Amino acid sequence: MKRDVVIQKYGGSSVADVEKIQRVAQRVVSSRREGNDVVVVVSALGDTTDNLISLARQITDNPAERELDMLVSTGEQVSCALLAMAIHSLGEDAISFTGAQVGIITDNSFTKARIIDINAKRIEDALNNDKIVIVAGFQGANLDHDITTLGRGGSNLTAVALAKVLNAKACEMNTDVEGVFTADPRIVKDARKIDRISYEEMFELASLGAQVLQPRSIEFAMKFGVPIHVRSSFSKKQGTIISKEVSSMEDTVVSGVAINKDEAKVTICDVPDKPGIAAKIFRGIAKEDINVDMIVQNVSRTGATDVSFTVPSGDLARTIKAAKDISKKVGAGDITFDKDIAKVSIVGIGMRSHSGIAANMFEALAESGINIEMISTSEIKISCVVNKRCGPDAVRAIHSKFGLGKKRKTRA
Ligand code: ASP
Ligand code: MG
Repeated sequence: MKRDVVIQKYGGSSVADVEKIQRVAQRVVSSRREGNDVVVVVSALGDTTDNLISLARQITDNPAERELDMLVSTGEQVSCALLAMAIHSLGEDAISFTGAQVGIITDNSFTKARIIDINAKRIEDALNNDKIVIVAGFQGANLDHDITTLGRGGSNLTAVALAKVLNAKACEMNTDVEGVFTADPRIVKDARKIDRISYEEMFELASLGAQVLQPRSIEFAMKFGVPIHVRSSFSKKQGTIISKEVSSMEDTVVSGVAINKDEAKVTICDVPDKPGIAAKIFRGIAKEDINVDMIVQNVSRTGATDVSFTVPSGDLARTIKAAKDISKKVGAGDITFDKDIAKVSIVGIGMRSHSGIAANMFEALAESGINIEMISTSEIKISCVVNKRCGPDAVRAIHSKFGLGKKRKTRA
């Protein structure tokens, strides 16, 4: 009889040392003994990936991306082999594979490759031979058989993609937290575990700074309708289910609060207020391959206006240089910048049908004496840029204003 396939992904902190690997082995074996076909996806041990990248940086500032992938993909190869051995010690049959070995075929974008196809035959054969299958996360190979990686946190994507091709009953993301929280519990003490959240909200939260899941893996899960269960590796408790929107979710106006401290604000002063200038500015920035996030343009009374925008902090130096060149070309003025900003955001699909959410968010900040520097909104999110020092207070104030804490009250 055909058994259900269960995908279990374990992040780096869940396999950080031998003892933890042995604990994971036990969890895998118990799922197997419950009668499932188990396919495990593992990340590299603890901080291995960071350490490998730092080794490369000690050799060169600008490592060839092909070689970087060759290097960092080894981390997952170590953990999958060790986990297979730990499972053998518990008396079950297991076999480990690299991404290339199980036919994960990607494009040629080293360090951020996209999966183009998976030929799962090797996994299916192993499952049919009653083996537990362990797959090295985060990697594949291009059509030239060169090893590629899927971007940081990419083991999640491996897990979701395998869940799709193997038609798995469940895709569990086992991690060091109990699920997805209404805010980072290190910042907000009474942050609450969310039982169920839509793909869209989770995608926004992850993109806005919540670190539980790689946004790309959520996009992929949404596209193929793979439900995800984020849960703790260290307990049996139910975590957070990420799935397609169900009508009861609409009742939740705000699902979570996220903070991102990795952006910087750049202002181009005295920009001529004429058609075509904004196009020139942002074309110039885009040419440098810099991703602009928020943009604010003031109303002009004098024929000139200030334009502010945010970019990833790592791109600030390049952005300033590009902005100076552009400013000269369009006849604008000085460039100023601010690295000490934090973007605080709320996300919730209920915003589509409730009013007053923005006012509530701004009031929460006002009541805490926090100044708003920039605002942006979309259908299901509102973001405010504030001073970096005020970031955590802003998160706490907003979290409590919307009653997201342990004792739940709804407010609109
Ligand atoms: N080990 C890789 C990283 O740290 C992939 C992963 O953990 O998912 O980004
Ligand atoms: Mg890792």
